[in-house]
Amino acid sequence: MMSSDAGVIVGELRRVLGAEHVQEAPPAQSPYNRDSSNRRGVEGRAQAVALPGSAEQVAAVVAWCYEHDVPVVARGGGTGLTGGAVAVNGGVVCSLERLRGVRELEPGLWRMFPEAGVSTHDVQRLARENGLMFAPDPGAAEQSQIGGNVATNAGGPHALKYGVTGAWVAGLEAVLAPGELVRVGGWAGKDVAGYDIKSLLVGSEGTLGVITAVRLRLLPAPETAIPLIVFLPTRADGCAAICAVFAAGLRPSVLDFIDGDTLRILAAAYRGVGPGPGVGLAGSARGAGASRASDEVAVPAQAGFALICEVDGSRAEAHAQRDALIELLGDGALAVHEPADARALWRWRDGANPAVTAARGAKVSEDVVFPLERLLEGLERFERISSAHALRSCAWGHGGDGNVHATVLVDPANETELDAAEAVGEELFALVVELGGSVAGEHGVGWLKRGRLESQWDRRALELHEQIKHAFDPKGLLNPGKKLARYPARSLRTTT
Ligand SMILES: Cc1cc2nc3c(=O)[nH]c(=O)nc-3n(C[C@H](O)[C@H](O)[C@H](O)COP(=O)(O)OP(=O)(O)OC[C@H]3O[C@@H](n4cnc5c(N)ncnc54)[C@H](O)[C@@H]3O)c2cc1C
Repeated sequence: MMSSDAGVIVGELRRVLGAEHVQEAPPAQSPYNRDSSNRRGVEGRAQAVALPGSAEQVAAVVAWCYEHDVPVVARGGGTGLTGGAVAVNGGVVCSLERLRGVRELEPGLWRMFPEAGVSTHDVQRLARENGLMFAPDPGAAEQSQIGGNVATNAGGPHALKYGVTGAWVAGLEAVLAPGELVRVGGWAGKDVAGYDIKSLLVGSEGTLGVITAVRLRLLPAPETAIPLIVFLPTRADGCAAICAVFAAGLRPSVLDFIDGDTLRILAAAYRGVGPGPGVGLAGSARGAGASRASDEVAVPAQAGFALICEVDGSRAEAHAQRDALIELLGDGALAVHEPADARALWRWRDGANPAVTAARGAKVSEDVVFPLERLLEGLERFERISSAHALRSCAWGHGGDGNVHATVLVDPANETELDAAEAVGEELFALVVELGGSVAGEHGVGWLKRGRLESQWDRRALELHEQIKHAFDPKGLLNPGKKLARYPARSLRTTT
């Protein structure tokens, strides 16, 4: 069968799933033809959307598609930033949104077995309600799904101490080609018996199989968590401070950064210097520049860098870590604040994204990683690259991991600027490789970064990567075109 036979595809899938659970060729503006990369021009051409209600139905969808040479694109919450869940090459979008059961929740054994469509937020909430913690904390938790998090190996601020999603996956249930429900891993505390197929599926972005349920390990929730925000004079001071934290043997759960340009945009967006009324951070002020108690944190006008830190653990541990951090960072800092409400701090920090977007109408942001000791060089050279292309830049991210959201501000109606942003991206990825980093820290490769791995890995490693894809998906029907290690010719026009 030709994959262009939309009517036949829909008719056959309706026979399997029931008429109400299959949509025919959704319009371009349908959420099923988009993800959160749609401002970068990624749009799908799905011929059908399948909404299976069980793992067995997912297997039936994949089996039918595989037999009839129809591409299958797994879709979670659609919050991906690289076009991974978008059917750019047509085919069937297989949405996991109806797989929302929690098959097992064993607080005493620190584990949970949710189906793929359970939202990240619900996994976190269920863990919390049982005195436990699901540590990964990617930013779009209300909408993203645990299956999508596993498929992208999502991270977040707390990945510094607790690792990315894959660190918490004990086992997976997935539909593998040509349509078989398979379980890998399990609750065994140790298991070195086979090749690590579970870890191959983690981060595979729907290109090796469709995940239907996830065995998750949980942790007892820390007794307390203490946030701090540290303002430093320069980027060099900030990067040195990050390295100093490690050298001192401290283990914060979060060590994020906001650079000076982003701080200035945030300050302007919130009328004046710093998070003004309404986004103020209640708490007590510490450090060289702010020794009085205050209800609001003002970003010092001279601040060239900020570190958002969090320490957690037992009360005694967390306080000891906090005191050590303040002692280590306080002297060189313009100000160190301990907000009473961590959520207000994160709300303010999350304001960076919209504020930076609003500054010139649009932005192009790339998720890259530099080795810690090259972070300063990476940030400086990224700024120089952007300036050479006459674009204003800024950066923020998970400093302790060297993970940078490197951003240029553009006018979306200005073709010259959009071309320049594309050129900046090319030079940035070359820089990342030169400095020994990674072209993708947490947002995956998807469609927008297809072929980027080619510059990062050795030829033999790339071959193995492709052979693994072929072993799992000999017909190349699982999310075709995504996560490609190599890509012959690329036009990555990135309208935002
Ligand atoms: C505001 C915002 C903040 C964000 N912050 C972070 C962050 O802090 N850290 C981070 O890592 N990411 C972040 N992201 C990106 C995104 O939220 C993550 O990549 C997330 O893990 C995607 O999950 P999803 O369920 O939305 O997946 P989707 O976007 O639906 O899909 C993503 C990829 O996974 C595949 N996939 C989805 N479900 C399955 C499944 N069940 N089986 C097989 N493949 C599947 C898709 O085919 C696609 O390739 C952010 C995005 C936004 C919009």
